[in-house]
Amino acid sequence: MLVGFPNNPRNEISKEIDWIGNNGFDFIDLFLEPDQSELEKVNVKDVRRQLDYYGLGRIGHTAWYLPIGSPMRRLRKCAVEIMREYLDAFVEIGCHKATIHTNWPPSTMFTAEEGVKYQVESLQSILELAENAGVNIMLEPLGTAYDNARSIDMLLALNEKLYFHADIGHLNLFGRNPIEYLSLYKDKLMHVHLHDNNGTQDLHLPMGAGNIDWDHLLGILKSFYDGTVTLEIFSHDREYILYSKKKLLDKWNSIGF
Ligand SMILES: [Zn+2]
Repeated sequence: MLVGFPNNPRNEISKEIDWIGNNGFDFIDLFLEPDQSELEKVNVKDVRRQLDYYGLGRIGHTAWYLPIGSPMRRLRKCAVEIMREYLDAFVEIGCHKATIHTNWPPSTMFTAEEGVKYQVESLQSILELAENAGVNIMLEPLGTAYDNARSIDMLLALNEKLYFHADIGHLNLFGRNPIEYLSLYKDKLMHVHLHDNNGTQDLHLPMGAGNIDWDHLLGILKSFYDGTVTLEIFSHDREYILYSKKKLLDKWNSIGF
């Protein structure tokens, strides 16, 4: 398993890379989004040079609110165009896999099936662009009512080259069981976001601060997965992040097969 951390896009990206590089992470989950790390502002060559300096791996991450599922066709087309720019940046920086998130139209006006239809249209174009760029696309379901197995099945069925990104915190909402989702999509699993919550709010807490049974979950995850795991914990005090990293590695290394 490789452990990573995301840059906070509201902070200066070079300082974020310094912190990640100096604290023993294997890779950065590169959040290229407003305000400090948006595509127009980031010098991709500088980012690549700095990541190389620290020997950090890198995974691309697009803004979670990219409107690929908007009911407005022109917004969807615009989202695909922005994705084209993302892919150029990811290629230059050396990211071979990148996350895109589910994006749903307003639930009071549109059904999940309509939301799937809108996203499928965008994803078809995006997957074509990504294949030409040599970047694997991973779909990260958000923590909304629509992000259930029925919707995920329909989206992943779209293309064998669309992979699954399991955000364990998101999969712990709306009465869902993250272990069930990890097992359902283990054949397509390419990346994991790890954070805790209370089952009702997407809190991005340190490991053990919510209600997820980590010993049980990690035991099952390790039986079929040994890839990248990002600690997507949002805390101003970064001691909590380092503590979670230690806990994760201790638990992971104590699981024997
Ligand atoms: Zn996530």
